Amino acid sequence: MKPIIANILNLSFVSKTLVILNAVKNLKVIRYSYFGDPCLTDRQASLRSRMTKTKYSSTLLLLFFLIFSFQIFDAQAQRFPKPEFESGYIQAETQIPVPRSDALEYMDVLVLILALSLVTWLVLKKRSRSGVFWISIFSILYFGFYREGCVCSVGSLQNIALALFNPGYKIPLTVLAFFIIPLLFSLFFGRTFCAGVCPLGAIQDIFIWKPMKLSTWIQKLLGLIPFIYLGLAILYAATSTDFIICRYDPFVGIYRLNAEFSMYILGGIFLATSIFIARPYCRFFCPYGVLLNWVSRISVFHMTITPTKCIQCRLCEDSCPFGAIEVPDSANLKESRKDTKKRFVMLIIIIPVLVLLGIWTGFQFHENLAMVNPKVRLAIDIFEQESDPNIITGPMYIEPIAIEAFRSSGKPVEQLYMEANELIEEFQTGSMWLGGFLGLIFGLTLAGLSVFSYRKDYEPNKGTCLSCARCMDFCPVGDEDELIVKS
Ligand code: SF4
Ligand code: SF4
Repeated sequence: MKPIIANILNLSFVSKTLVILNAVKNLKVIRYSYFGDPCLTDRQASLRSRMTKTKYSSTLLLLFFLIFSFQIFDAQAQRFPKPEFESGYIQAETQIPVPRSDALEYMDVLVLILALSLVTWLVLKKRSRSGVFWISIFSILYFGFYREGCVCSVGSLQNIALALFNPGYKIPLTVLAFFIIPLLFSLFFGRTFCAGVCPLGAIQDIFIWKPMKLSTWIQKLLGLIPFIYLGLAILYAATSTDFIICRYDPFVGIYRLNAEFSMYILGGIFLATSIFIARPYCRFFCPYGVLLNWVSRISVFHMTITPTKCIQCRLCEDSCPFGAIEVPDSANLKESRKDTKKRFVMLIIIIPVLVLLGIWTGFQFHENLAMVNPKVRLAIDIFEQESDPNIITGPMYIEPIAIEAFRSSGKPVEQLYMEANELIEEFQTGSMWLGGFLGLIFGLTLAGLSVFSYRKDYEPNKGTCLSCARCMDFCPVGDEDELIVKS
């Protein structure tokens, strides 16, 4: 019996799921056969009935055991006791959740897909704001408080950057799934992930109360921050320096109920700001939002404010708390061909200049950016200490713990300098790319401000619309083109 149990425990998640499905199917077959066959004698029928009952209960037992074994897998992650020290050492509190079993991680992916499918259906088919709201509550509870904000799609882009630039890092399949699946949904249906599945967006959303309308230029200016954040996050992840999105995530500490005081304050500021400036983190910080915005622009089945056609009633004009509704352009905005040509030539000149300026700025600041890397900082500290012995002769001098740890490791300092130099070179290349990228984005943003698209109807901006479904309730047009009077 023991080897059978061990074999079952060692089955992969997929095999176990298949065995469970098979067991469920068997249960149905057994139940069906229990209803008896009129051609059998009483004795035969009673014998079959007994056999069926035994089969039924043993299959049921197997099913319970298999489902229960998922929990055993999870518990296995914790089966070794934490090390005991007799030196008064206090076990540090972990900042990230304990690892989950593979089975539960796959379950998270399944929940993600189900929640995305449901919210997409609610937005595109049912056009239900209340449905989206309840999914948001679910996401706060499941991906937020239960899963403690990890793994999250927003942070997963750092794992992708790390995997791309460090062949030694094997990215977990579930993290890859959390990165790709919301992008795929955005590609087809718009940002339904932001609507109610992302726990960071959902927690801000429920705080929206009296949202202010921000002017276009403020939105465009603040909208540049996510690009800078995205660039820095990729740079620091690619150089194995840090996962800054996770480190400065304002809500994850709230979800884990163990944030440092400063992070509680930061999270509190974001939530308080959400009351008047809807979803400030999503609109002016989220680096993953940049990718979702790009992908959503070409989405095939994006939500529309009106179910059929826009009658220009203007009722939805101020309904979007995120300023994502594009108003029709009046005819007088149309410019002469000559003006359009002039501006086009100007932009052609300005964009490459901004890119070059960005590359130059990146080059100038690469050492400052590299200082964030702990190895580079350690090398600089040791170099300064060795080149100025007066630093360590003062009576108040306490050797930094990182230097003390390095010295006791026995590693030659020359090797540390060499590794730090290599890192600084990586930062030089990365910072120049970052500068060039930001120069291009600034140039395109300028271009976007001065290019008009001639729109006739009220439409959501496919890039910035978070598919929250609020504006739909303001539209008086019904499914059949008829007008609906809403109280
Ligand atoms: S913008 Fe970012 S934080 Fe906001 S809902 Fe979308 S992915 Fe989440
Ligand atoms: S669905 Fe889009 S356009 Fe409509 S209110 Fe929500 S974010 Fe704004």
